[in-house]
Amino acid sequence: MFDSHLHLRDPRIIPYHARFVKEAIDLGVTGCIDCAVRPEDWNAEVRCALNVTTAFGLHPWCVATACPDWADFLECALRADPGALVGEIGLDGIRKTFDGGAAQREALQIQLALAVRLGRPVILHGARAWGALLHALEPWADKLPAILLHGVSFSPDLLRHPVLSRSNVWFSVGGALLSPAAQTLPRLAAAIPLDRLLVETDSPDMLPIGGEPLVLGQYRALLNSPANLPLILRALARIRDIPFAELADLTAANAHALLATRG
Ligand SMILES: [Zn+2]
Repeated sequence: MFDSHLHLRDPRIIPYHARFVKEAIDLGVTGCIDCAVRPEDWNAEVRCALNVTTAFGLHPWCVATACPDWADFLECALRADPGALVGEIGLDGIRKTFDGGAAQREALQIQLALAVRLGRPVILHGARAWGALLHALEPWADKLPAILLHGVSFSPDLLRHPVLSRSNVWFSVGGALLSPAAQTLPRLAAAIPLDRLLVETDSPDMLPIGGEPLVLGQYRALLNSPANLPLILRALARIRDIPFAELADLTAANAHALLATRG
């Protein structure tokens, strides 16, 4: 099993990496993509028993507080790790900003240009801003090695968008699938092409309904962990009518296909 999106450098779990991943490893999770989303995290070293691929990027939520020279710092981090992806970057429609999202849009353009220049795949956040994100992506889509949309939640009709019908675009489904209120996401999860379907926990956030909370220090009953990946996979397996083990292998193979696009 491969968790295509989590945050190992989240300050809440840094002292507890071994515990954070232990149960997941026991359950058969073997690899993950760790997104380092703010300049303070781009130097931090991660020691973890999972097979970790790192992504460096300025998350839209971190744009307002980033140091002025963050773009130079980001380029240094990416050049120092030739296997690293660019992410998590994107546009966000959940938290309102004072500038109507102008700074986020500028940061996204800077990072897409950097990803193209360095030949790196990108991992994108587009929560409640998917249309604007796809519009911003249009000029870059055919220059990027690969695009991973994380935590997807949009109308299945959007899959016909010219950017999303490309073969170098992958879609990662997370724990929101388990919410009883989720209506659009199950339909989207049923419609994503099988060879471009990935799964993620987005831990330590996004604890799914029915998921096992990880109790770490003061963060009792709050944290998600990659050990909840099988729960998400089981829900997805029911929707796709595919045996769990087969879907686990398929989504892991898809993740490796995405990573193979790195130059
Ligand atoms: Zn995330």
